[in-house]
Amino acid sequence: MDTKKLNFDTKLIHAGHYDEPFGSATVPIYQTSTFAFKSAEHGAQCFDNNKKGYIYTRINNPTIEALENNLAELENGYAGIATASGMGACTSIYMALLGKDAHFLSTSSVYGPSRSVMENHFNRFGVSSDFIDTSDIELVKKSIRPDTHILFIETPSNPTIQLTDIEACAQIAHDNGAILVVDNTFSSPCLQNPLDMGADVVFHSLTKFINGHADAVGGIIITKTKELYDKIRPLMISMGCNMDPHQAYLILRGVKTLGLRMERSQQNAKRIAQWLESHPKVEWIKYPGLGSYTQKDLMKKQMRGPGAMMSFELKGGIEAGAKLMNNVKVATLAVSLGGVETLIQHPASMTHSGLPKEIREKAGISDGLVRYSVGIEDINDLLKDLEEAFDKI
Ligand SMILES: *Cc1c(COP(=O)(O)O)cnc(C)c1O
Repeated sequence: MDTKKLNFDTKLIHAGHYDEPFGSATVPIYQTSTFAFKSAEHGAQCFDNNKKGYIYTRINNPTIEALENNLAELENGYAGIATASGMGACTSIYMALLGKDAHFLSTSSVYGPSRSVMENHFNRFGVSSDFIDTSDIELVKKSIRPDTHILFIETPSNPTIQLTDIEACAQIAHDNGAILVVDNTFSSPCLQNPLDMGADVVFHSLTKFINGHADAVGGIIITKTKELYDKIRPLMISMGCNMDPHQAYLILRGVKTLGLRMERSQQNAKRIAQWLESHPKVEWIKYPGLGSYTQKDLMKKQMRGPGAMMSFELKGGIEAGAKLMNNVKVATLAVSLGGVETLIQHPASMTHSGLPKEIREKAGISDGLVRYSVGIEDINDLLKDLEEAFDKI
């Protein structure tokens, strides 16, 4: 079946699946480290061109390949490279496309480890980096340099829910001989397709919306061209950032319901955001689905929906935030996001605690900021949970 012609929700279920010899309706788990060659000649052919057969699971595996093909199709890319985690995807991109004396330009409020691995480690090898407010396109134009190899953006960014114009960044990157990489974890391919807007590489933490069930960690890189794929894939294999077949199976199972989950999470998120916006104990709230959201036009230009992530600041700062987190019962106090279960967390003391306070504040991550990832529970239970916890503040 040519799944390329199908609509998104059908692709979620069928793309990447292949005719399995026993007629299995789902992609089987090929839980094997290695694959037998039919003959010495076949083995030699596999090494010459691994399309001729599977060799070793770090290199490739049918279950993992099904997931790679599924997601490459969802993002309209050339091909996918599955990794052990989202950070495995991020560091494979850095390693493959940067080198001594290269410059790296990125969003200041990018996912904490994506920034700290650059500043604490890649800089040791002679890569220089700048982290700026990429929602300011003039600032991006001013900050890109002739030696910039990668413009790396996260939109919406984490946890400030700030958008960056993908199309404009692609133009700036290409005018300066750089590659545009987009971390699309917060939107998932359901709401945003960066490669269609000019990006060269898109990556996801599959741990979040795509798997959606908080039971597996994983990552994927999808490139627009064969050339970029051929640069990144061998590096990922050599560094051993590969996914495991069982992980691939769980994520293939999770991705099937991405459309349904996203629909429900967004419905819930809109109601919760409105409730929070009108609450006297809330200083401000950022959610792309609210009328008050400042980047509404950009949201409509590049996203098909506002997503299910929001940040808000309570009056009473860090103490009020801790009270809220200690009193919610339906929402789980945990990092991560994009699952069927609602999660709440405090970036300044949790996900972004690795960044010094002044850098955090410059990136818009204030001490009282609370991040809320809306799941698919009954909206009345979620609202009641917040009402009861807010009463205790
Ligand atoms: C979680 C996350 C990552 C890292 O993914 P892991 O699967 O935890 O390694 C990268 N970017 C964003 C935006 C994330 O939310």
